[in-house]
Parts: sequence; structure tokens; C-alpha cells
Amino acid sequence: MKVTLLAGGVGGAKMAEGFDGLEGVELSVIGNIADDAAFHGLWISPDIDTLTYSLAGRIDRAQGWGVADEGHRALGVLKELGAETWMTLGDRDFGLHIYRSAALARGQSRSEIAAHVARVFGVKSEILLPTDDVVQTRVRVADGWLSFQEYFVREQCRPEVLELAYDGIESAKPTDAALNAIAEADIVVLAPSNPLVSITPILEVEGLRDAVRAAKTVAVSPLIAGKVVKGPADRMMKSLGLRADALGVAEYYKGVLDHMVIDTQDAGLAEGIMALGQGCTMLPTLMTERAEKQALAAGILEALA
Ligand code: GDP
Ligand code: CA
Repeated sequence: MKVTLLAGGVGGAKMAEGFDGLEGVELSVIGNIADDAAFHGLWISPDIDTLTYSLAGRIDRAQGWGVADEGHRALGVLKELGAETWMTLGDRDFGLHIYRSAALARGQSRSEIAAHVARVFGVKSEILLPTDDVVQTRVRVADGWLSFQEYFVREQCRPEVLELAYDGIESAKPTDAALNAIAEADIVVLAPSNPLVSITPILEVEGLRDAVRAAKTVAVSPLIAGKVVKGPADRMMKSLGLRADALGVAEYYKGVLDHMVIDTQDAGLAEGIMALGQGCTMLPTLMTERAEKQALAAGILEALA
């Protein structure tokens, strides 16, 4: 059974861990690259790295991102020298960013680099990029436009989001690997990731939304009882005029989905979701332990069987 997962960082990686290594499942993950940014002359790809570190067993479990057993001595030197250091980058993490930046300078594509890193780190599933071009989310707040990381990390998601833009998306070409992974999938899963800034910049790459629409697609709600597990998705959805609950997520994905998986706590929303013209299954969707991730992944496959 071929499963292709569209994923952001933390929520996406938890879902990826659920499918990774599940008996009979061949997993391809298409990760979000629109949070990418340059820091200290290096190219940083936070969501791809969160996926890679998670599936490689290197992730800092308490944080959900970054490398376990990490130090911050390189960042300390940068701070001493007057560089801006609000983006927390660990020493081991820096090694990967240096490698990626040098490989880009040698002319390798971002997806080749991601695949190489995943292979060397021992990731069994495929980690694919939606595009090899640069796409960057921008966030308009009262003071003007911020880069995604300025909004997310430096401002800690405090300002109200007035508008989102995905710079470069109109001209971004899809990778063949992403198109094929969707076309060949038995099931496409939209992870419980931020719909606006993790899933949309993947779907908006030329051809990908149509490919997903043509596939058997299920989304897992990142909102449980109208709240996020972590991050700004609920506040973002509200300030952009969307309902901030599982029904709002289903409405936002309307036309793309065959099925929606919502939390058992949201049973009251199931009727409204089915009225949109798709199936709906209730499962426990909060993933902390590995067993919960795998149970959710297995439950999704069962619901779609
Ligand atoms: P980011 O790129 O690190 O911000 O992560 P994602 O976009 O992949 O995921 C963020 C979303 O994941 C948030 O809206 C969270 O509510 C959601 N999320 C995180 N953990 C869980 C979980 O265990 N279950 C569900 N259903 N959603 C989760
Ligand atoms: Ca992200």
C-alpha cells in the first residue's frame, strides 16, 4: 500500500512517524519548503529537517524539533560577534545547514540534497520536496510584511495575521518525484499540519492540487475541539475569516478531499463535514507516544479501506 503524506513540521512529522514502518505501508512524505530561509549565509529548511530528524530518530522529543543531545556553542560565537541569533540553531543542526548550503553552491538541487541527507541518516521512507524552486511564505501584520520565521520565531506568532503570501509560488515547477508520488499513491494524506502555511504552499505548486484532487485523499484535522495542539493555526484561521475548528479545516480543503478524519471530541461537527460531500471518521488524533501515532495511521487506512 503506497501512502503519500503532505506534511509541515511538528504535526506533519508525528503523522509521518505513524505511517513510517507500519506493516505493508510504503511511505513518501512531501514536505513544506515555504518556511525556508537564509541565516548566517546558510540555507535552513526547518520543516524538511523536522521530518528528517523525526524519521531518523534524531529529533529532540521534548521540543518536537531540533536535534537531541544538542549544543549551542556556534550560536554563542555568532551572538558574541553581533549577529542576530533569535533563530535557535544547534551545533549538530549547523552541520546539516553547512552541508546543504555547500551542496547548493555546487549546483545540487534541494530535493537531491534532502534525499541524500535522509538516506545517510537512515530514514527508510522517502522525503520529497514539492518543488526545487524557492517559495517563501510572507505574513502581513499591522506593521507590514514579515518573513515567516520573523513572524513565527522572532515575534513568537504574537501579531495578528492580516494576509498571507507565498512568494515564488506562481513560477515554482513541481518535482517529478512529488507528482509521481501523488499519482501512484493508493492514499494521499494531508497531515494534521497548519493548513494555511504548511499544506497550502505544497498544494499551490503548479499541478499538485489537481494531482491531489485526482487521488483518494484524506485530511486529518490539526484542530481538536477548536484548539491547536501547538502553534498559531487557530488564530490565523480566525483572523483570515475562517472557522477555527475541524469543520473550518474541511471547508478550507473543500474540493480536494474524499475523507476527513477528526478527533472523537469533535463528533458534533461530523454531520456538517459530511454535508460538504465527503466522508468523515472520528478517531483519537492526539499523538504523543509512538503507539498513538501508529494507531492513528492504521485507523486512517482502515477508514479508507
Ligand atoms: P510546524 O511546521 O512545526 O508548525 O508544524 P505543522 O504545520 O506540521 O503542524 C502544526 C499543527 O499541528 C498545529 O496546528 C497543531 O495543532 C497540529 N498538531 C500538532 N500535534 C498534533 C497532534 O498530535 N494531533 C493533531 N490532530 N494535531 C497536531
Ligand atoms: Ca513549519
